[in-house]
Amino acid sequence: MFELVSCCFEECGCRCDQAADDEFDLIANSELVKPILLHRLARQNIGWFSDKTICHHHIEDWNLNQVEGIYILWHKSDYCAEHERFHMRALYVGKGNIGARFRAHWKNKDFSEELLIYFTYVALPNRLSKYIEQLLLDLYNLPLNKSENPGRKVLCQHFTQFEVD
Ligand SMILES: [Zn+2]
Ligand SMILES: [Zn+2]
Repeated sequence: MFELVSCCFEECGCRCDQAADDEFDLIANSELVKPILLHRLARQNIGWFSDKTICHHHIEDWNLNQVEGIYILWHKSDYCAEHERFHMRALYVGKGNIGARFRAHWKNKDFSEELLIYFTYVALPNRLSKYIEQLLLDLYNLPLNKSENPGRKVLCQHFTQFEVD
């Protein structure tokens, strides 16, 4: 008998206990003096807002009006009972005034399939945000980014209950 190595999430075949893709970190390490690593982009300042068909965005509650930086929008698409992790698929990367950008997305984008959109962000000067945004777009396929997105890999993370609360 052999044990079948199975994935935790059918959507992209990834496992909760497998190491995250390291290509972003390898390139950032070789090109930046003080590299910002993927883990920080994906785990810092976690929050959420709902689709406009559900309720008001409540983005003002997150105190983002003065924050400039880089952000990623995520969809919580599945749950692994074995490792007790949620599958978070990256949908979009953007930069600028975080509060203003989130309000614009809430108003203009259709999240009625996802219903709840999670975000992570890091406060950074615009020139660094530009670099990180382009590096993510070069490596990963972010389905809601329409332009300059040659990347083909799926960007996902595995969040604990604590992180999505
Ligand atoms: Zn995955
Ligand atoms: Zn798992």
